[in-house]
Amino acid sequence: MKFNTVLKYVKSVLDGFWDLLYPPKCVFCAALMEVRRDKIYICESCRKTVRFCANLHCCAVCGAPMVSSEYKYCASCYNKRKNGFPIYFERIVGVFEYNDDSKQGILALKNAQRLDAYDTYSVLLHGMLLSKLGGVNFDMIVTVPPSRQRMNGIGFDQCVRLAEKLEKLTGVKYVKGCMKRNRETLPQKSLNLGQRMTSISGAFSLRVPGDTVRNKTVLVIDDIATTGSTVNECARVLKEAGARAVYGGVIAITPAPSAVRTGSDSNRYAAVK
Ligand SMILES: [Zn+2]
Ligand SMILES: [Zn+2]
Repeated sequence: MKFNTVLKYVKSVLDGFWDLLYPPKCVFCAALMEVRRDKIYICESCRKTVRFCANLHCCAVCGAPMVSSEYKYCASCYNKRKNGFPIYFERIVGVFEYNDDSKQGILALKNAQRLDAYDTYSVLLHGMLLSKLGGVNFDMIVTVPPSRQRMNGIGFDQCVRLAEKLEKLTGVKYVKGCMKRNRETLPQKSLNLGQRMTSISGAFSLRVPGDTVRNKTVLVIDDIATTGSTVNECARVLKEAGARAVYGGVIAITPAPSAVRTGSDSNRYAAVK
């Protein structure tokens, strides 16, 4: 028997013991589940309530789910373009719509007892990257620099764990600590567009030598995108250092504003169909 075959056998036996000791649970409701080959632990009941971006029409830039499939871009991205706010990233891709149903599952990321959630989320994010950005050859993965609040709350950085899992799934190198946070920022959700741009501007800077990112296609990992401003600021830093293209990969994205979700303002958005 070859050494690799023996290793695989030993690993499968150890995995079996692990599953007996810690039976898999749904990442949303913690219901006990059978072991699954795809490692996606979301029970049948939660699959019915959670909204997967894969099944929704999402903005072609920030990835926000929209109710109407009439428009290519959400109102926020449309207004940014119209008002000359620069968008530095190419596109953001998310796994779930962030709402009351998915909130519990996302909180599992912050729960040190639910480290199994990272397997489910990284497999799902990998699937979304393949289906939506399959033609993109990433050179490196980076993470949004954590806020003090994030680190204090859970003691570890969930984006780092996600990026490490994605590195294993994709084979794309994760450059840890690529960017640093220069200062704390206000929660983006509470601010209007202009305030968001001002609040986040200059909040991050590059920690690695510029050569690391020059001419590279970069994937930025974050947990939740509420406005795309955080990924945008990371993209600004990376592009200024010479990155060729920057994409965002997140677990959840808040839905687009209702004006576009209902498609009620057709004249205003007709130009960006
Ligand atoms: Zn469940
Ligand atoms: Zn958008």
